Amino acid sequence: MQVRLLEATENPEELICRGARNDYMSDYVAELSFEDVMEGVEGDDIEEQKANFVAKLVKRGHYGPFEHPSATFAIEGASRSCMAQLTRHRHASFDVQSMRYVSFDDVDPQDVEDGEMVVTPPSATDSDWVGRNQSASDYDDEDVERREEVFRSSVRQSVEDYQELLELGMPPEDARFVLPIGTEVNIVVTLNPRSLMHIADMRAAADAQWEIRDLTEQLLDLASEWCPHTFEYYNSEMKHRKNRLAP
Ligand SMILES: Cc1cc2nc3c(=O)[nH]c(=O)nc-3n(C[C@H](O)[C@H](O)[C@H](O)COP(=O)(O)OP(=O)(O)OC[C@H]3O[C@@H](n4cnc5c(N)ncnc54)[C@H](O)[C@@H]3O)c2cc1C
Repeated sequence: MQVRLLEATENPEELICRGARNDYMSDYVAELSFEDVMEGVEGDDIEEQKANFVAKLVKRGHYGPFEHPSATFAIEGASRSCMAQLTRHRHASFDVQSMRYVSFDDVDPQDVEDGEMVVTPPSATDSDWVGRNQSASDYDDEDVERREEVFRSSVRQSVEDYQELLELGMPPEDARFVLPIGTEVNIVVTLNPRSLMHIADMRAAADAQWEIRDLTEQLLDLASEWCPHTFEYYNSEMKHRKNRLAP
């Protein structure tokens, strides 16, 4: 899976600060320079003022201003299972690649067996992988070898069946029912920093599944470049403290 930033609000933290400072000033925030808006905030220069103010807001739980900027990310190659988890979050906007209009009629089933089109979970091939509620000693090498064989032949078979159903005249929107939940999908998602911090509270946590944790870490890395003071504070002071943003 890969994630890229498509579009994002320019100067997101200036917007966050303007929004929040608006709450405490009699002047009209749209008519002030950013320096004037930030007058009185601790810090040697405007960047330090921004960092201090953003950190103070998050620390206090004043999250509303973090809803003003937004970023749009393009996700390639997530599983449909991961998509189902991500799209449970309601404060986000999504576009999801359609399996009604995009058919996998020209995919070679051998390539699917080799890892294309369907996400291969690490536990299918990594003998050291231990899932939640499992212990490493539960399975021997033979089990692990057979696990990979079964996984690979199963995904290959499902794509062969799907393509045969298409050839037999079944529409893609119905033939897709035989495809596995690991089938890859591309997603475009728009989030604001508050929403992303909440998703990270839940999905970067140790009890979340490996794939959505990977996705969340990639989103956080991109967000750290886009909205640096906010996510620097989040990563160092708040990450892994579940549900703080939406108690
Ligand atoms: C480890 C893990 C395991 C999970 N297992 C399951 C499972 O087995 N089955 C399952 O169905 N789901 C499961 N979920 C999904 C989970 O229950 C949530 O539905 C999902 O993570 C969305 O998060 P959220 O509830 O915080 O809502 P979001 O949509 O992310 O909303 C953010 C916040 O806004 C507020 N909010 C939004 N909508 C409402 C509303 N209608 N009413 C009141 N407040 C609202 C809440 O405070 C909420 O926390 C799991 C999640 C995790 C992280």
